[in-house]
Amino acid sequence: PPAVSLSGVGKRYERGGEVVRALDDVSLDLPRGSYTAVMGPSGSGKSTLMNLVGCLDTPSAGTVLVDGEDVSALSDDGRARIRGQKVGFVFQTFNLMPRLTARENVALPLVFRGVDRADRLERADELLARVGLTDRTDHRPNELSGGQRQRVAIARALANDPAIVLADEPTGNLDAETGRAILGEFERLHEAGTTVLLVSHERHVAEHAERIVQLRDGEIEGIEEIEERRRAA
Ligand code: ADP
Ligand code: ADP
Repeated sequence: PPAVSLSGVGKRYERGGEVVRALDDVSLDLPRGSYTAVMGPSGSGKSTLMNLVGCLDTPSAGTVLVDGEDVSALSDDGRARIRGQKVGFVFQTFNLMPRLTARENVALPLVFRGVDRADRLERADELLARVGLTDRTDHRPNELSGGQRQRVAIARALANDPAIVLADEPTGNLDAETGRAILGEFERLHEAGTTVLLVSHERHVAEHAERIVQLRDGEIEGIEEIEERRRAA
């Protein structure tokens, strides 16, 4: 199955007696190993889409399949289980635990899976090596640069070997050069076969993906394939 399959997905919110259609009849497949960016103006439904794909929320209509499993109608616990197994999150603000070292931050998702301590730390070191942070494993977040923090967050997102990595404006708090380095990390994930879904309001960031999905008023306005030779390096 595709890593993610949305069909006829709608999401409504009620706000002060008024109904907001955050998403309306959205159908979209993310093939395994694909790299997709989502763009759209503020309020177009990007966060809502991420929350549904990330099993943080349920749709009002339609179905969401993650790795072939229908998560649309699962309980909070059921979704938490799928989320822990199938989804890695990378945020604009890194969201690392300040008192934990880089290694402990990366190992944290494995605690919830019952992996024993020695195996967790070994796995964390492997993941930190993948993102070029072997010499920073014992540093706490405040001892790391912005780019290094985001690399720790990427390593953590990979801890459970997820079917999909969701990145919400992952370069938003980084200078241009560091942002490019982080996009290079996503490119490497993509080349290694991970499915990546990236949200950005910046076109030059989104052009690192294989295709750009444009949202407007909760609907897919268009999907643009980015030619290999045009993809940002
Ligand atoms: P984006 O991420 O593109 O800015 P969102 O998905 O956050 O868009 O929002 C889409 C629409 O849904 C907006 O009109 C927003 O105000 C509304 N919305 C989002 N979350 C909620 C919520 N929890 N309650 C009510 N309305 C919401
Ligand atoms: P900054 O936010 O300071 O720009 P970066 O993430 O760009 O942080 O890099 C900080 C330091 O880590 C740099 O000196 C860089 O050479 C080193 N570094 C970054 N990525 C890697 C990598 N993949 N492998 C080895 N060293 C790296």
